[in-house]
Amino acid sequence: MYWEDGNIHIEEDDECITCENLQKGIACPLILAIAQGAVYIEDSLNVINCGFYKKFERHLKLVVPVDNISLD
Ligand code: SF4
Repeated sequence: MYWEDGNIHIEEDDECITCENLQKGIACPLILAIAQGAVYIEDSLNVINCGFYKKFERHLKLVVPVDNISLD
């Protein structure tokens, strides 16, 4: 993770890539703190073993194909 040109950049080796908090954006306390200027990243950091990490899991719903719906 690094800060450049007013943006936070997440890299492939950061734990954030599979974190639910990143999917929700501002739900990440670290990203929120950086965005608010409370925390400053001087160079770059590799995010591992983050205490706020939540594994992102997709929740898919099955959709019935239109052909199987009766309009009688
Ligand atoms: S909670 Fe931790 S692992 Fe998740 S996005 Fe924020 S810094 Fe990354």
